[in-house]
Amino acid sequence: MRNNTTHSTCYMCTEDCPITVLSDGEDILSIQHPDCVRAEGMLEQRTSRLRQVNARIRSSLQDPWREVSRGQAVSATARALLEVRERYGAQAVAFVAGFTKEARPYLQRLAHCFGSSHYLTESSCCFGSCFVAASVTLGKEYDYFLGPSRTRYSATRCRLVWSTNPTESRLPYDKHHLITDASEWATIVVDPRRTPLAEAARIHLQLRPGTDGALALGMAQVILEEGLEDKEFLRSYAHGLDAYQRYVRGFTPDKTARITGIPPERIVAAARLYATSRPAQITISACATTHHSNGFQNHRAILLLAALCGNLDIEGGNRPWGHRCREASVDLSAEEVASLGPPLGAQKHPVFVEHQGEGQAMLLAEAIESGDVRAVFSIGMNVMMWPNSHRLRKALGSLEFFSVCDFFETPTGDLATTFLPAATHLERQALIVSGSGRVQYRPAAVAPLGDAMGDTELIFEMAGALGMDGHFWGGDIHASFDARLAGVGLSFESLPASGEPLFVDIREPEERGYLRNGFGTPTGKVEFVSTILEDAGHEGLPLYREPYWSPVSTPGVAEDYPLVLTSGGRSKNYTHSQGRQLETLRSREPKPRLQMNPSDAEVRSIGDGDEVRLSSPLGAITLQAWITDVMPPGVVSAPHGWADADVNLLIPDAELDPISGFPPFRSSLCQVHRLDGPGSSKDGTHHE
Ligand code: SF4
Repeated sequence: MRNNTTHSTCYMCTEDCPITVLSDGEDILSIQHPDCVRAEGMLEQRTSRLRQVNARIRSSLQDPWREVSRGQAVSATARALLEVRERYGAQAVAFVAGFTKEARPYLQRLAHCFGSSHYLTESSCCFGSCFVAASVTLGKEYDYFLGPSRTRYSATRCRLVWSTNPTESRLPYDKHHLITDASEWATIVVDPRRTPLAEAARIHLQLRPGTDGALALGMAQVILEEGLEDKEFLRSYAHGLDAYQRYVRGFTPDKTARITGIPPERIVAAARLYATSRPAQITISACATTHHSNGFQNHRAILLLAALCGNLDIEGGNRPWGHRCREASVDLSAEEVASLGPPLGAQKHPVFVEHQGEGQAMLLAEAIESGDVRAVFSIGMNVMMWPNSHRLRKALGSLEFFSVCDFFETPTGDLATTFLPAATHLERQALIVSGSGRVQYRPAAVAPLGDAMGDTELIFEMAGALGMDGHFWGGDIHASFDARLAGVGLSFESLPASGEPLFVDIREPEERGYLRNGFGTPTGKVEFVSTILEDAGHEGLPLYREPYWSPVSTPGVAEDYPLVLTSGGRSKNYTHSQGRQLETLRSREPKPRLQMNPSDAEVRSIGDGDEVRLSSPLGAITLQAWITDVMPPGVVSAPHGWADADVNLLIPDAELDPISGFPPFRSSLCQVHRLDGPGSSKDGTHHE
């Protein structure tokens, strides 16, 4: 047998790192990949004995599964969706994408061609709020995230790193330049946890989770009070500065200290350092600032610091992402999509839905409960992604039809009536157009096992079974790649079939593009008071509000649940809820562990490694205690994505962020007891 070498990409997370796969045409012999723990699980993901490679259907959740051929499963799914459309209309069907972004353009097109505007993705609780906040405030996305800033801007003199932890979230992890080179520039780290980056920083602002907005406004107060702002920039490019200045006056260092828990002199020092060390760059987590009941405005308050100090679109500051390499959309036209009816969340969260171009998935349980949604077609969906996840579990179990596509049996698959086995990234083709200019056709390195199929192949087969082949390039996937590549002036034929990448030149545009074009907001300026938010009935200023549950906003809840709960901190071993079935990864981190400060543990007689009950008014889960002074007293941190200890059971969904609809994963309230200790037995009641 001849050995084949495929230039491929890793998709154990969405970074698409280059890998080289050697196979004998049937089995994989070896994989060269970056030094990354998660990548070590990819071969096992394909060959795991737990993997499900057969299609299955059942009439109801009470019936046993029946194995069928892939074609039969696709036909049964299409029939069920058409029946629901016939009875209730196309809007009764929602199309949901979890992990795998590769096939999303096609899922969006499938939903819209089917006649439903309910195309929903995990962007409803990840990244999306940051993008929309930047768009309404600055007119476009800016380079705030860890990836791009890792290679550019040697001119930067100060880095304000806000709640992001490269040690666990970004290659090369603890060798990340933000940590190893921290002494080369002034680093300010905002984080409730004492992470390795916080340890290396000149100033660590250890705030109470959810008070990011108050801290940003408090820093702005110092900057304006001391006249450290960039007056010339603001004179020409600020909208609403007077109202903003009046508002931030209230956030004196003492008041900000009371809200955030950070000593006032440290807030003042950080504000002075950031404002006087230009150019300075802000690096923000894609989620941590927005996973709060006031996350959108908190995030805006942080973005505005860059404008206040004239650090936008200058070398060493935060530059626009507008020049990125982008593929062409394969969605229907805006008019055609608008004619389908309002997507989920269009009334409650109109700014998010309009700017994100999709529905707000966090409202799915409500839509099912009200009977608006009767069937769901999903790929890589995970019920643990939702706050108060019990509620969605119950709602999904009541659907008339629910299909799930995945590698493994999951808590979501348990609620389905059709299971479609997914091909892993080693077994499926993809077109990769990365923002950094890399364009690559990734061929399948080997054929899928059993009846597993690539997400794109599944969607094209579904389109055929639904009678929509005409909308899907006559079933020709490579023709669809041509349509997407039109955005970067390439064709499928021009890409190497062996998988080697091409690189599109995306040289940086000149600095200070706003001198020619202004900012892309309605006023053409940086909007300290957002006109888009005002028009939608929201507060235009970046108003600070306490988290929905906090010791300040709900002292009654805090009486029984006195600890602040933050969740969702990244682990380098896992991408969200994935990989728990893989021994390669699970052996490194076998159990979910709750980080808590020694003082909080001591008063509860909890020792390191003890089993503990973590509870909120919504329920309780069991984890292992990890006693560490990484945590400040009064705050505990729980990991997400563990099916047997799903922390999102405990997170309220009663008050999502009013603008974005994002849930408060990072700031809530809880109590902790030793499992066999006093008080633990009365926990665990699930309140509907
Ligand atoms: S899991 Fe690691 S190697 Fe794989 S894409 Fe992500 S960062 Fe890259």
